[in-house]
Amino acid sequence: MSAVAHLLRRAAAARACRTLVAFAASRRLLRTSPPSGAFAKELFLGKIEKKEVFPFPEVSQDELNEINQFVGPVEKFFTEEVDSQRIDREEKIPDETLEKLKSLGLFGMQVPEEYGGLGLSNTLYARMGEIVGLDGSIAVTLAAHQAIGLKGIILAGSKEQKAKYLPRLASGEHIAAFCLTEPSSGSDVASIKTRATLSEDKKYYILNGSKVWITNGGLANIFTVFAKTQVVDSESSVKDKITAFIVERDFGGVTNGKPEDKLGIRGSNTCEVHFENTRVPVENVLGEVGGGFKVAMNILNSGRFSMGSVVAGMLKKLIEMTAEYACTRKQFNKNLSEFGLIQEKFALMAQKAYVMESMAYLTAGMLDRPGFPDCSIEAAMVKVFSSECAWQCVSEALQILGGSGYMRDYPYERMLRDTRILLIFEGTNEILRMYIALTGLQHAGRILTARINELKRGNVSTVIETISQKLRDSVGRTVNMGLTGKLGAVHPSVTDSASKLEENVYYFGRTVETLLLRFGKVPGPLPGLGRAGPLRLGSQGDGLSEVSTFGTRPRKKSWSPWRHGVGLAVPGATWVGAFQAERGSLEPKSRAVAAPGDMKHSKHQPVSQFPGTWSYLDPCPNRNRRENRASSEPASPNPKGEAVLGMN
Ligand SMILES: Cc1cc2nc3c(=O)[nH]c(=O)nc-3n(C[C@H](O)[C@H](O)[C@H](O)COP(=O)(O)OP(=O)(O)OC[C@H]3O[C@@H](n4cnc5c(N)ncnc54)[C@H](O)[C@@H]3O)c2cc1C
Repeated sequence: MSAVAHLLRRAAAARACRTLVAFAASRRLLRTSPPSGAFAKELFLGKIEKKEVFPFPEVSQDELNEINQFVGPVEKFFTEEVDSQRIDREEKIPDETLEKLKSLGLFGMQVPEEYGGLGLSNTLYARMGEIVGLDGSIAVTLAAHQAIGLKGIILAGSKEQKAKYLPRLASGEHIAAFCLTEPSSGSDVASIKTRATLSEDKKYYILNGSKVWITNGGLANIFTVFAKTQVVDSESSVKDKITAFIVERDFGGVTNGKPEDKLGIRGSNTCEVHFENTRVPVENVLGEVGGGFKVAMNILNSGRFSMGSVVAGMLKKLIEMTAEYACTRKQFNKNLSEFGLIQEKFALMAQKAYVMESMAYLTAGMLDRPGFPDCSIEAAMVKVFSSECAWQCVSEALQILGGSGYMRDYPYERMLRDTRILLIFEGTNEILRMYIALTGLQHAGRILTARINELKRGNVSTVIETISQKLRDSVGRTVNMGLTGKLGAVHPSVTDSASKLEENVYYFGRTVETLLLRFGKVPGPLPGLGRAGPLRLGSQGDGLSEVSTFGTRPRKKSWSPWRHGVGLAVPGATWVGAFQAERGSLEPKSRAVAAPGDMKHSKHQPVSQFPGTWSYLDPCPNRNRRENRASSEPASPNPKGEAVLGMN
C-alpha cells in the first residue's frame, strides 16, 4: 500500500473518530448525573437500573455511515486478502498481512490520537472486532498487542511513558506482549515467582523469572511484565507485592522459546519468555510499586467485553457460509435447509449471535459514558457467554455440513480449534463465573450491611418490614420495576418476557439477601453471627479486581462445606454465576454448575427455584463434620483466612 493511500486511510479513520468523539460529547451533554455503572451489580440487590440500559445505546444513521466508511477498507481486506487456511497451515501470519494490518491502523485502535493511534471508542472498537474476528490468529495477535500488551500503558502509564512508548506501538513498529502467566501460576495470579529486585543505587530493578504461553512473545519488543517486589508497608514491615513493569527487549537478558505447537489459533505466536538479570529502569514501573495486581486486573477487565462482538462477527459469517451449503446440499430429495432439525440449528446460531452482539454493544455503550463506569461484571458475563456460544455454534455449523465439516478443505474444523481457546484465556470461564458471583455478592453485602446489622440487633421496624416482605413474597407478589406498562421501557411485544425478568431479578435479590442474612459476615466486625456465619464478603482492594472469602468459622465447628451458592441466569437461560466457599480452605471453590437443572443431581436441597434464578442451602449443617475437620487442617497460613482470586 502506498504511503498516500495509508495517509488517506488514516485521515478517514481520524475523521470517523472525531465524529464519534463529537457524538460521545453530545451524549455527555444530555446526562445530568454521573452513571453508577453498576447495572449487573444492582441485580444482586434485586434491582434493574433502567437508566443504565434503556434506551439501548444506539448510533444515528449519520454516525453509522461514517463508521461504515471507516470499516469498509478493513472488511474488504479481511474478506479478499486474508488467507486463514494458509495462516493456519504455515503457523504464521505472513509478513505482508501484518504490514497491511499496521497500515490500516489496526495496531493502535484504542491508542489516543495524540499518540498516533485511532483513539477508537469502545463501541467502534467492538465494531472493528466483528471484522478482525474473521481470522482467529489475527484477532488474538491484535488483542494481545493492544487489549492487554499495551493497555497497561494507556490505563496506568505516566505521561512520559505514554509519550515514549505509545506512538511506535500504535503504528505497529513495535509489538507488545502481556507477561503474567508462569509455569506454576495460571489462574492464581498472586502466586507468581518472577522477581524484581531494586539495585543498590536504586536506579534499576533486576528482573529474573520465566513466563509461559505469552502471545506475541517471540515478536514483541515491548513487554508488560508482572513480578514480585519487596514493598515496605505503612507499619514498616516488608512484604512481597506484585509490581508491573514496561520492559524493552533491548534492555538485555530477554529471550524467548520456540513457538508452541497449539490446537488452534496456530498462526498466533505463543511462547515462553525468560528474563535473566534484565535491568529495568525505575521509571519503567507501571503504576505504583506493589500495585501490579490491580494493574493486571484492570487491564483484563477493560478488554473482555470485546469478545462478544468478535465472536458475533465470526458467527454471522459462519451462518452465511453454512446457509449457502444447507440451501444447496440435497438429501432425501430435499435441501438440508428444509429439515426442521437443521432449521433449529440456524435459529440457535442466530439467537446466540444476536444476544452476544447486544451484550457487547450494551457494555461498550456503558463504558463509553463519561466518568469511570465499572462494567467489570458485565464484561465478564459477555466473555463467558460469547466464548461458550462460539464453541457450541461452530460445532452445530460443522454438524450441518456432516462429513464435509470435518475435512480440512472447509474452514469449520479450523474454526472449532480456534474458538476453543476463548474459554481458557483472558480469565478462564470457571474463574470468571466465581468473579461475577463474588463481586456481585460483595456489592450487595456492602449495601446491605446497615440493614443486616439492624436485623441482628433486633431493630423492631426493620424486623417487621422484613417479615412483611417475606409474607408478601410467600403469597406471590406482583413485581413491577417499570419495564412494562404504558410508561414501560420495553416494547409491548416483549411484555411477558420483561415481566418474567422483573420477577426473576426481584427474587434473585431476595435470595442474595437471605444468603447474606443467614451466612453473611459483611465487612466490618459483626458480633453475634447467629446460627452460622462462615462466609465473609470482605472488601479487599478496590472490590473491582479482587474478591475475598474465607471459610473459617471462629466459634462453632459445625459449618458444612459446599453448602451455599447463588446463580443468575441471563435471558437464554445461560448460567453466569456460581459461588461456593469451603470451610478452612484458602481457595474459593466453584462447583461450576452448568445450569439450574443440575440441582437435582446435587445432594443439596433447593430452597427456592424459579425460572432463571435459584439458590440452595444445605439443610443439615452437621452432616459433613468429618469432612470439615479434614478440610480445615492444616491451619490457614493466612491469619485472616482470606483468599485472593486472581484472574488471568
Ligand atoms: C494460546 C494461549 C495464549 C495465552 N496468552 C497469554 C498471554 O499473552 N499472557 C499471559 O500472561 N498468559 C497467556 N496465556 C495463559 C492463560 O491466561 C492461562 O492459560 C489461564 O490463565 C489459565 O491458567 P492455567 O492454564 O495455568 O490453568 P489453571 O489455573 O491451572 O487452571 C486449570 C483449570 O482449573 C480451573 N480452576 C483453577 N482454579 C480454580 C478454582 N479456584 N475453582 C474452579 N476451577 C478452577 C481453571 O478454570 C481451569 O479450567 C495464554 C494461554 C494460551 C493457551
